[in-house]
Amino acid sequence: MGILEVKGVNKNFGGLKALSDVNLSVKENSVHAIIGPNGAGKSTLLNCLVGKLIPDTGSVMFDNQSVLGRKPHQINQMGISRVFQTPEIFGDLTVLENVLIPCFAKRDGAFRMHAFEQVGNERDMLLRAETILTDVNMIDKRDDHAGSLSRGDKRRLEMAMCLVQNPKLLLLDEPTAGMARADTNNTIGLLREIREIRDITMVIIEHDMHVVFSLADRITVLAQGTPLVEDIPEKIKGHPKVQEAYLGQ
Ligand code: ADP
Ligand code: MG
Repeated sequence: MGILEVKGVNKNFGGLKALSDVNLSVKENSVHAIIGPNGAGKSTLLNCLVGKLIPDTGSVMFDNQSVLGRKPHQINQMGISRVFQTPEIFGDLTVLENVLIPCFAKRDGAFRMHAFEQVGNERDMLLRAETILTDVNMIDKRDDHAGSLSRGDKRRLEMAMCLVQNPKLLLLDEPTAGMARADTNNTIGLLREIREIRDITMVIIEHDMHVVFSLADRITVLAQGTPLVEDIPEKIKGHPKVQEAYLGQ
């Protein structure tokens, strides 16, 4: 059993079958990439995992619990965190303040989550935020305004805001979209470091094959809403069905 088990998921938009009979099993502490041409249903699938969309049929189990019927913040409480395609940070606040926001949200109210129960007082929160900033190599920028950061650093900061929540599963939708090669390589390096220093599972949707082959343990190829193949990267490269899906775009 994987930490994430998707079974028989269908999702239609009007007459359009965005997902049909999707099965996906993601092993704990692995990096699982989902690739496929534009319109294949990748973002729709991700949205079904975080409660933004509800599948018409099928099941989505995370850590042996169903996510279906739960609100996005409740799914977040289960240990699933999502990195958005465009970084969602607070430009007027400092880097450190941005990382503290999820801590306070958890302590003070609506978003109280199991993963944060160990974060009791402000001193602990500060320590925790600083540790994460050190992990993502941003401690030198703790007092900089987030709005003034480079695109790559904004992405790094957003990653820190996710990691401070101590997620079990990190979902990344095209984390290197629009980045220059240098920033892309930095992001690959960062994600590799994160894997090394903590137990975490990642599901990554990505267009850039260089990123996918640098990070993934397993790859699922989605085309027209259906998984075509799932295998290790070496087997995916040059797979006839994969070539067909991309050439047929
Ligand atoms: P991908 O992320 O792989 O590019 P999407 O999941 O965004 O693909 O989209 C899959 C299909 O579903 C596309 O044909 C897209 O136009 C359609 N689609 C996605 N979201 C909606 C929506 N909210 N309403 C109607 N159609 C949608
Ligand atoms: Mg998409």
